[in-house]
Amino acid sequence: MGSTTTALSGERINRWHWLWILPRLAFILFVGGVALLLWMSDRADKEEQRATLISDILWLEQNLRFHLARNEELLGRIDVAHTSDAKAFESYARTMFGFESGLRQLIWLGSDGAVRLAHPAITNSGLAGETGEAIPSQQSYRLAHSLGKPVYSKPYPYFMNDWQFEVHVPVSREGRIAGVAVGVYRIRDLLGDSVPWWLAERYRISIIEDSGKVLVSRSKVESTVTEEGYQVGFDPPGSGLSLHAVPYHAPRPLASLLLSGSLVILAMIVLWSLWILRRHVLRRQAVEEQLRQEHAFRKAMEDSLDTGMRARNLEGEIIYVNPAFCRMVGWPATELIGRRPPMPYWADDILDETRALSDSVLAGEGPEVGFELKLKHRNGNAIDVLIHEAPLIDARGQHFGWMGSLVDITERKQADERARQQQDRLQSTARLVAMGEMASSIAHELNQPLAAISSYCTGAANLLRNQTPANEVLPALDKAVEQARRAGQVIRRIYSLARHGEDRFELLRLEERIDDALALMEADIRQNGIRVTVDLQAKVLIEGDPVLLEQALFNLFRNAVESMRDTGLDQRQIGITLACADRYALLTIADRGCGIAADVADKLFDPLFTTKVEGMGMGLAICRSVVENHRGRLSFEANPGGGTVFHILLPLVPVAPQ
Ligand code: ADP
Repeated sequence: MGSTTTALSGERINRWHWLWILPRLAFILFVGGVALLLWMSDRADKEEQRATLISDILWLEQNLRFHLARNEELLGRIDVAHTSDAKAFESYARTMFGFESGLRQLIWLGSDGAVRLAHPAITNSGLAGETGEAIPSQQSYRLAHSLGKPVYSKPYPYFMNDWQFEVHVPVSREGRIAGVAVGVYRIRDLLGDSVPWWLAERYRISIIEDSGKVLVSRSKVESTVTEEGYQVGFDPPGSGLSLHAVPYHAPRPLASLLLSGSLVILAMIVLWSLWILRRHVLRRQAVEEQLRQEHAFRKAMEDSLDTGMRARNLEGEIIYVNPAFCRMVGWPATELIGRRPPMPYWADDILDETRALSDSVLAGEGPEVGFELKLKHRNGNAIDVLIHEAPLIDARGQHFGWMGSLVDITERKQADERARQQQDRLQSTARLVAMGEMASSIAHELNQPLAAISSYCTGAANLLRNQTPANEVLPALDKAVEQARRAGQVIRRIYSLARHGEDRFELLRLEERIDDALALMEADIRQNGIRVTVDLQAKVLIEGDPVLLEQALFNLFRNAVESMRDTGLDQRQIGITLACADRYALLTIADRGCGIAADVADKLFDPLFTTKVEGMGMGLAICRSVVENHRGRLSFEANPGGGTVFHILLPLVPVAPQ
């Protein structure tokens, strides 16, 4: 049975085991969601950064273009006054350099392409730079001159990794080209002038050639840069330069770091609490399993008991019954649990007594040892049970009800009763046999003398009829007298045998005889639910035969008990009083029985008079004979409260004078 329960509970656990998948799934989804959120936020950041980068670089490109275009325009408008005099040219050049134009040198080429004016003055290889190769600026000059439009030269190295390029702007006067104004841009300075500080803080900005060679780059922060950059064609026409910007690895904002960090911590806390919870639940399951097994074990034990178990709360409501109890009273547990007194299994004829007993148990005043009670099976049969009540104490030590164990003693009681009846019948049969034996022995003993008397008397009568003289008749009469004396002796012997003889008299305490006689009747008294009150007003010393006196008292008590068969249970009572008055002990035995009808009162002490089916009618006759044999007197009268009172007067032992 235990293993079946275990298997069942194991199955139940397995069935719910899938529930564990839910939190795990939720956790995985949570972590996945958090990761996705972080990734999306990072991506959004990057996209935003890229958009900013693009707009920033476009802005920068526009800015540079604007610089170049403005310079082109200013250079194209250089007037004669400035190109004819070195000093004026110099001041003009200074003005041009002044407003962050990016220009570092201004050169005025005549219409033949020769340098007329330059500020700062040309040294070394001049426009050709340090390489000594073909001077690209000459090409640019020619191109500008022929096109009549500004032309930009290719960048060329200038000094120490510094690069520069030129813009050749043809200046027209009076419809023809008077010369070419050349502005020299040093790329590093151009970048320095046009890239504002806030841009330099965010990006590394480079100017690169078509070939991808970085000519110059500007950055404020020495730090790693991301791979991703953005390049836009920065186009001094024909020069083939591009602007390239790469954003710095901007440190992630603190809030975002905090958010990601707290999300990770949160996920770990969730994982940890899941783990703790799982451990707790597993432990709980183990304990529950243990409890379930214990419960199953106890239940199996209770179910297999023959003893009925019934628990009541303090209000008397039934809160538990075991199967044995249900079998005993014939009611199912469902109809008993929740019932309050009176219970359906209480015997109808002792309803009040049962209720009083139940109340006293609930009040904690019930019998300390077990008590017997008659109950009623659902089918109407009476059942005798032996009940033990014990208090129910909860885990906090509080008394919350009573647990009663009931043992069915119906069969035992019936067996006792049968044995008693058998004993009674045996006793009366034995008495009848004894009486029969006694009668036949008396008959036998008396038969002989009586026959002799009869024949002597017949002979004497015949002699007298024949006028025989008296002296001849006398011997026959003497013999008849002799036989009559013998018959008297036989009767006296038998009488003395029946009386046991006065030689058995001894000093005795009457109250002790009463106790012993009551003890003999105890089973009957208890079985009939009779209350006995003994009122000993004096201690009584008398002289008598203890066995005969006890027998007489036993007969009187038994008559009292038998007279109350039809008396109500609460009325059944025997009152015994013992008092002394005027050298006599007065013992009264009062019952609440059927009483003695007037027409039988006269015959009551007659031997063999009885009103009972199984009665012998010898009890009272023997009682009176025993009492009178003790020089006492036995009488009776009606009990004023119903029933009969028997009085016994017995002489006290005279107290010797001091
Ligand atoms: P038995 O008890 O065998 O009948 P007893 O001589 O003891 O013989 O009693 C004779 C009758 O006297 C009984 O049958 C009964 O009718 C009556 N009797 C005796 N004692 C009582 C009593 N206490 N109350 C009523 N009737 C009694």
